[in-house]
Amino acid sequence: MASNKVSPSGKSEVGGVDKEVSNAGERLADEQAAPPASILQVFISNVCPACSKPKKLNTAFCKACYFGLSRQMKSALWNRFGEGFEEAYTAALSFLRCG
Ligand SMILES: [Zn+2]
Repeated sequence: MASNKVSPSGKSEVGGVDKEVSNAGERLADEQAAPPASILQVFISNVCPACSKPKKLNTAFCKACYFGLSRQMKSALWNRFGEGFEEAYTAALSFLRCG
């Protein structure tokens, strides 16, 4: 019965948290550049968010939905995250769901 191990570093964990706040500014900038989790989840899933049919990984929509979009919407989906993709994705999704 020697299962009660005492971690020697247990003390310092609590004290160290406050110090990291001073570096938070740098980290925040990185997080803002990342795509929203909801859109990222669509990309890493294989279900189309508009019609629930199978789609390829790392694409926003399945082929049928993608080709149902206007040329402008298609090209807007080639924008990067943070450079218009979110808006294009949201617009395309509501367009596909409505009609
Ligand atoms: Zn679809």
